[in-house]
Amino acid sequence: MANLEIHQFPCLSDNFGVLIRDADANVVASIDAPDAKAVKRALEEKGWQLTHILTTHYHPDHTDGNLELKAETNCTIIGPRGEAAKIPGIDKAVGEGDVFQFGSFQVHVFDCPGHTAGHIIYWIPAADVAFVGDVLFAIGCGRVNEGTYETMWKSLEKVMSLPPSTKVYFGHEYTLSNARFALTIEPENEALQQRAKEVEQMVAAGQPTSPTRIDLELATNPFLRPNSPDIRRRLGMEGEPDWKVFGEIRDRKNRA
Ligand code: ZN
Ligand code: FE
Repeated sequence: MANLEIHQFPCLSDNFGVLIRDADANVVASIDAPDAKAVKRALEEKGWQLTHILTTHYHPDHTDGNLELKAETNCTIIGPRGEAAKIPGIDKAVGEGDVFQFGSFQVHVFDCPGHTAGHIIYWIPAADVAFVGDVLFAIGCGRVNEGTYETMWKSLEKVMSLPPSTKVYFGHEYTLSNARFALTIEPENEALQQRAKEVEQMVAAGQPTSPTRIDLELATNPFLRPNSPDIRRRLGMEGEPDWKVFGEIRDRKNRA
């Protein structure tokens, strides 16, 4: 069975760069391209040749490297149909329900609007891994820039429905501040308390907190837990729909 190799590296101030490779098929993709220089350095370090860029959304800290990398490698840029006009160098636009081949792996695409209107995520079931850009972060989620809280909540519900064992690679190392905020929303959550300690240690040791896992997020991420009775009681929102509770948590984080 084919093996999907994954190499993650820090870039820009707090972005993650990620390269994935199917060695048998000789294909290498960069998940987003925050910074061409950092991506090239990572490729050189691994001795890998770039063949694809998989773009999650148009923000410059995810696409600034596209044109330079394409000019040098002639890689194929795949990106969101809903904002294709904003993706530099895009060759192939994809959206909800699309499945495409990356070497021997099938990559499934979901529309997850809210952070941006066209944001997509990539799920590779055979490798038990997803790349979610700025939709979900460890113990957090992206800012809702282009859409309603209801839209963003529906997108998060799609992520939540992935298999619990799915490894989730996300766009930014915000986890320490996310953990501190989460403890103000659900301080009695023991799994969160435990995880916050682990995150402190990881960050102090210079270790990345990405990837996370779906089951870990379901247990500790307050943005995925609007149905928690403790959270609802604290916010005084016992009878409200999940998306409204989510929206209140997002508002509080924006003000924190
Ligand atoms: Zn973004
Ligand atoms: Fe970003």
